[in-house]
Amino acid sequence: MFDLQTASPSSSSAITSECCAVCGDQVHGKRYGAPACLGCIVFFRRAVINRSQFRCWKKGSCVITFASRCVCRCCRLRKCFHVGMRAEGNFLDNAA
Ligand SMILES: [Zn+2]
Ligand SMILES: [Zn+2]
Repeated sequence: MFDLQTASPSSSSAITSECCAVCGDQVHGKRYGAPACLGCIVFFRRAVINRSQFRCWKKGSCVITFASRCVCRCCRLRKCFHVGMRAEGNFLDNAA
C-alpha cells in the first residue's frame, strides 16, 4: 500500500510548479511571483515597462492557453496579474 503521509514531501505546493500559471507552457522561472514560461515572463516585463495599454475585443472574457496566449494581450496581461505576477523591487534589472 502507498503511504500518502510520507510519499511526497514537497507535494503541498507543487500543484502548478511544472506549468506556466498563465498559459500552461513549460515553466521558466518564478521571479515575478508566479510560475511562468519564458514567453509570459518576457511578455509581462515588456508590457509593464512599456506601460502597455491593451484592448480586449471580447470584453475581457478570453481564455488564455498555450495556443491562444498570443491572441489577446489584454487578457494575457490581466491573467499574469491574476495568478500573482507583479512588478516590484529590482524588476527592471537582469533582463535575462
Ligand atoms: Zn506562459
Ligand atoms: Zn481578451
